Amino acid sequence: MADTALMPIPGQVDPVPVARDITPRADGRIDLIGLPKDRIRTLFEEAGLDARQAKLRAKQVFHWLYHRGVTEFEAMTDIAKTMRPWLAERFVIGRPDVVEAQHSVDGTRKWLLRTADGHDFEMVFIPDADRGTLCVSSQVGCTLNCRFCHTGTMKLVRNLTPGEIVGQVMLARDALGEWPKGSMSGLDDEEDAGHYTADGRLLTNIVMMGMGEPLYNFDNVRDALRLVMDGDGLALSKRRITLSTSGVVPMMDRCGEEIGVNLAVSLHAVTKDIRDEIVPLNKKYGIEELLSACAAYPGASNARRITFEYVMLKDKNDSDEHARELVRLIRHYNLPAKVNLIPFNPWPGAVYECSTPERVRRFSEIVFEGGISAPVRTPRGRDIDAACGQLKSATEKKGRAERDREAAAAE
Ligand code: SAH
Ligand code: SF4
Repeated sequence: MADTALMPIPGQVDPVPVARDITPRADGRIDLIGLPKDRIRTLFEEAGLDARQAKLRAKQVFHWLYHRGVTEFEAMTDIAKTMRPWLAERFVIGRPDVVEAQHSVDGTRKWLLRTADGHDFEMVFIPDADRGTLCVSSQVGCTLNCRFCHTGTMKLVRNLTPGEIVGQVMLARDALGEWPKGSMSGLDDEEDAGHYTADGRLLTNIVMMGMGEPLYNFDNVRDALRLVMDGDGLALSKRRITLSTSGVVPMMDRCGEEIGVNLAVSLHAVTKDIRDEIVPLNKKYGIEELLSACAAYPGASNARRITFEYVMLKDKNDSDEHARELVRLIRHYNLPAKVNLIPFNPWPGAVYECSTPERVRRFSEIVFEGGISAPVRTPRGRDIDAACGQLKSATEKKGRAERDREAAAAE
């Protein structure tokens, strides 16, 4: 199916194709995934239900969709038996297609997914002792071309729809078997509600750190995360969600106001020259502007710090002086901050190397000595190209025909 309803993404780049909130389907049915309750209600009214019925059914269907993870109307036991086929004729409950699923030796899992109109993107699940983090993509590719990032070398870009974004979380819950079980007796199921917490689950945290720049797809990311945070939806706390931006300054305030999740900022350099080179968006929104926007980020506090991501590139941004300047900047702007040092993950054709372990350790010590926490992020899933900045590599190396064959064989 071809992309329809194209519109530009704002930014420094040429307009790129974006899909509408509802991806058109060949069979004319409407995929409800990614839609909020009100939108579902309107669609039910348009399909012929009276206002009261539409409201009630929307509430029930919303609960089954996002809270229970069902994909068939037939499983919605509190909806009349005759009503279920009526819904199934007009609507579907979709998931992104899984093209390939890979397991790393360290437990990290990566899924290559495909949209209904044939675009490939990836999501990664990173299990730890005390948490499990799903790394979610917001775009197919990225328009921003950070020089150390493999995703940034991709040309083809389209924004993911809210359904394709929340669909990743739902797919992960499917794969991990983490939908609430129980009596399935309806909306006010007290017994079941007790089990629906992050405790005891594998998937506890979400980071918008997959492919793409989430603040260049603001509306869709916001709408998807609202479904993730909705108590009657996926019910994940905003404190367990982190959005990472390369520094789209004009959208940061709205991110805090309208989404309210934790913020991570891909700083990566402390001088204009170096940041201009490695994060070209810096030419548009410079370091001072970026740090001022961080200082004004709604909801940031000592209890909810802003994370500054800093990729360690050998002989580029990793000197003692850079570390001291990082401390100075964070203090100067009085930022409630922590620093996350990311060893550079290599990919074929990359022009940088990772700093030596001694350099990374020294850099970390200097920042710590400046009173700011600066742990080094352990690279995860490097063997399956699932680590930060490596996404999409496998996809590009294999041809479409090869992947189709593999997908067919896997079924
Ligand atoms: N576009 C957003 C979020 C996705 S990238 C952003 O840039 O913030 C998630 C993190 O991985 C970012 O901090 C990014 O700069 C970092 N990253 C990209 N390529 C990397 C690489 N090759 N090695 C290590 N980290 C990388
Ligand atoms: Fe895009 Fe982030 Fe990669 Fe930069 S680091 S190219 S913003 S995905």
